[in-house]
Amino acid sequence: MTGMAVRNRFTGGAGYASLTEQTIRAFLESNPEVSKALGGRSQGWSVREVGDGNLNLVFVVKGPVGGVCVKQALPYVRLVGESWPLPIDRAHFEHEALKAEAAVVSDLVPKIYVFDKVRAAIVMELLEPHIILRKGLIQGIRYPKLADDIARFAAQTLFSTSDLALPAGKKREQQSMFSLNTELCRITEDLVFTDPYRIAELNRWTSPQLDHIAAEFREDAPLKIAVQELKWMFLSRGEALLHGDLHTGSIMVTSEETRVIDPEFAFYGPMGFDLGAFMANLLLSYYSQDGHATAGDDRSDYQRWLLDTLEMFWGRFETRFLELWRQAGTGDAFVSGLFEDEAGRRALEAYRVRFMARLLQDSIGFTGAKMARRILGLAHVEDMESIKNTDVRARCERRALILARQLMVGRSSISSIAALRQFAETCRKDAL
Ligand code: ADP
Ligand code: MG
Repeated sequence: MTGMAVRNRFTGGAGYASLTEQTIRAFLESNPEVSKALGGRSQGWSVREVGDGNLNLVFVVKGPVGGVCVKQALPYVRLVGESWPLPIDRAHFEHEALKAEAAVVSDLVPKIYVFDKVRAAIVMELLEPHIILRKGLIQGIRYPKLADDIARFAAQTLFSTSDLALPAGKKREQQSMFSLNTELCRITEDLVFTDPYRIAELNRWTSPQLDHIAAEFREDAPLKIAVQELKWMFLSRGEALLHGDLHTGSIMVTSEETRVIDPEFAFYGPMGFDLGAFMANLLLSYYSQDGHATAGDDRSDYQRWLLDTLEMFWGRFETRFLELWRQAGTGDAFVSGLFEDEAGRRALEAYRVRFMARLLQDSIGFTGAKMARRILGLAHVEDMESIKNTDVRARCERRALILARQLMVGRSSISSIAALRQFAETCRKDAL
């Protein structure tokens, strides 16, 4: 970096420079394992910067034997520029989260070769020919394993890092380490839970078509209470280690494989936030499909597949999470020794059902918040943005906003995933 002081909580900052197509060669060559994975000499490697995200540099490096992916944190928000500084040690949290995920779902995350603290860079497995799930959904591609894979990812990562699985001391140690990921949490707090509900410089929406509904959101007191209650949960409820950004742009897929990338927003928060992030992005895709319809394909079959995936996701998640709890509930919460007689076992089982019902309601609330921010806030989704006719796009977005509002305000009255599905379908048909 030129002319910018770079703070790194873990190394003091000395030695950081953003990687270039030249300097990355020496960096990778200095590591025997990486050098071997690439093969040959560094002069012969191809290096391409492919970062399409909002925050970081991402390089794809290929040699005669294989390839690697290098992700480096930049000291500012890439989407906005140097005027918005951001600590590079978020790479540390991303690395820690990737390790925690790999401990329980190693087949669903990229393999890590090297974490370089000073450079704030992670060298990882190159996912190829995987594509970003969001892009596949825009094209109308089906992924038969997606629902089950993300359900397994969520059930395993959330359960294994929670007080249902861990001794209290171990959980607190982890929670306090991740609690320093303050600035990334701050982005979520502002951009998801606050800015879309007030005049904010960074907000944007399809204008003038959505001007009216955007103003309605800013004046809707019950909605603002609902979203602030969700924010309160996000701030105060450290239930489990979250991925923190589990949308369809953080998942890479082929028809056979699923990988979850980019957990730099990881921290201990409410489990429903991760579940809601995935559900919100399936629903955003669902509402966007009308904008991708062609003469030969109205996308109605695909819309059905998206809602099937939503339903299957929750069903599989619930089953897997409960299985883990019954088999491996070794944490300090709900000590199994207290429930060994018949009455105890029955009471605990009944409580588990209530626990999952509450988790569904949390998830539904977060689903609403994650949908609305993508239409009224700073960061939008390609599913909608790629609809070039702005009247058509605004119609898709309005339906999504109407559902989003109902999910936040009325989440306690939606008691099953089937009811959520039905509600989503109704909003698509009824709304103008
Ligand atoms: P950001 O946090 O800046 O959004 P991401 O981790 O999402 O960065 O990566 C940005 C892009 O780089 C992804 O959308 C994907 O296209 C590509 N990418 C990231 N990790 C890999 C990987 N392991 N293999 C192949 N491509 C990757
Ligand atoms: Mg990211």
